[in-house]
Amino acid sequence: MTRIITCACGHDVSGADDEELVSGLRQHLTDDHPEMNVPDEALQAQVSAQARDTD
Ligand SMILES: [Zn+2]
Repeated sequence: MTRIITCACGHDVSGADDEELVSGLRQHLTDDHPEMNVPDEALQAQVSAQARDTD
């Protein structure tokens, strides 16, 4: 099973669990949205609220 979350820009980040989604999203923000300064708590909340399972 894979977890996936879509960034506000439309970029999909996937991982084995929510922890990987948080770190993957962090990496994506660093790469593509360096102007954003999002705290870890906000990333975790976003993952909790929006992450979904894929096959
Ligand atoms: Zn993005």
